[in-house]
Amino acid sequence: MIILGIETSCDDTGVSVFHSEKGILSNVVSSQVKLHAQWGGVYPDLAAREHTKNIIPVLDNALKEAGIDLLDIDGIAVTVAPGLIVSLVIGISAAKALKWSLKKPLIPVHHIEAHIFAIFLSEEVEFPFVALVVSGGHTELYIIKGFEDYLYLGGTLDDAAGEAYDKVARMLGLGYPGGPIIDKLAKEGKEVIKFPRPLLGEKGKNRFNFSFSGLKSAVMREIEKKIYRKEDIARSFQEAVVDVLVGKTVDAVEEFGIKNVVVAGGVSANSRLREKFLKEGKRKNFSVHFPPLYLCTDNAAMIAYTGYRRLKEKGTTIGYDFEGKARLRLDRFVQYINQK
Ligand code: ATP
Ligand code: FE
Repeated sequence: MIILGIETSCDDTGVSVFHSEKGILSNVVSSQVKLHAQWGGVYPDLAAREHTKNIIPVLDNALKEAGIDLLDIDGIAVTVAPGLIVSLVIGISAAKALKWSLKKPLIPVHHIEAHIFAIFLSEEVEFPFVALVVSGGHTELYIIKGFEDYLYLGGTLDDAAGEAYDKVARMLGLGYPGGPIIDKLAKEGKEVIKFPRPLLGEKGKNRFNFSFSGLKSAVMREIEKKIYRKEDIARSFQEAVVDVLVGKTVDAVEEFGIKNVVVAGGVSANSRLREKFLKEGKRKNFSVHFPPLYLCTDNAAMIAYTGYRRLKEKGTTIGYDFEGKARLRLDRFVQYINQK
C-alpha cells in the first residue's frame, strides 16, 4: 500500500510517500525557518502564503524522489488538527483536490498523534506506553494503550516547553529557533541558579500538568540583573525544564506501572533531555524511545505513516465535509473523525 502524506500545520510544507513494505520512499520538507527568524516566531500570514507557493512543487518533488506516479497512490493522509488554521487549510484543500481527482480515500491525521507514532518508523514499541509530547506548541502526557486508544493525563497550563526555549533564546539574544541554540550553549555552562521546577511533585489535579511561564519570567529577571554568563543562564534554565519533563513522566510511569516511554516532538531532540531520560530509565527500570532527529521536527513521513495505520487498522476515511481545527486534543480528535 502506498500512502501520500501532507503536512502544513505550522511553517513547514511537507509531503511524503510511505510504502507499507519498503518504508519511507520520500520525505520532502520545505522549511520557512529563515523567513520567520526575523519575527522570533511564526508569522501566520507569511506561513500561509509560503505554503500556497510551495505545496505543488513539494508534492512534485516527493513523487519524483519516490519514483512513483500520482496514480500509484492508494490514499492521501493529511494533518487536520491542531495548528495554525491559515496553514492547515492549504494542506487540507490540496488533499481534498487530490481525493476528488484521483477518487482515492482521504485519511485524517492528528499532528500530535503523528509526532508520537513517528517512533514506529524507526523501531517497534510495545503498548501500552507513556508518551511525552514536547514541541513548539505542545507539552502533553498521554498513555497510549493502542492505536486510537489514548488517555490524556495532562498538558501545559500556559507556554509549551519549545515555546519557553524559543522565548528564553530571544531574551538572551540568541536567534530562532531557540531550542537547538540553548541546547548547544548550555553544554558550556554551569547550573549557577536553581530556577523553580514548576508543578513538579504536585499532587491532585495538576500532577500531570505543566507550567513554564513563571520559569520564563524568573529567567528574565536573572538576565536583567546581568550577573551571570549566557551559557550559565542557558544551562540553569535547561536543567529546570528537563527536571520537570523527566520528573512528571516518571511519575506517570510509576503510577500506571508502565514499562515503555516514547518522547516525541521537536524538543525531544534535546541532548540533555535524552541523557537524563536514559539515566532515569536505567535507574527505575523503564525503556525510553526517541524518534531519530529528522523525524522529531515537523515532517510528512509521520503523517503518511499514521494515515497508513489508520486506514489499515480502522479503515477510517473522511469525505469533504470537514475543516481544519486549530485546537483539538488527541483523544477528542478520535471521537471527531469517527463521527464524520
Ligand atoms: P507543534 O508540533 O506543537 O505544532 P511545532 O511543530 O512547531 O509545534 P516541532 O517542530 O515539533 O514544533 O518543534 C519545534 C520546537 O522544538 C521549537 O520550539 C524548537 O526550539 C524546539 N527544539 C528543536 N530542537 C531542540 C533542542 N535540541 N532542544 C530543545 N528544543 C528544541
Ligand atoms: Fe510539530
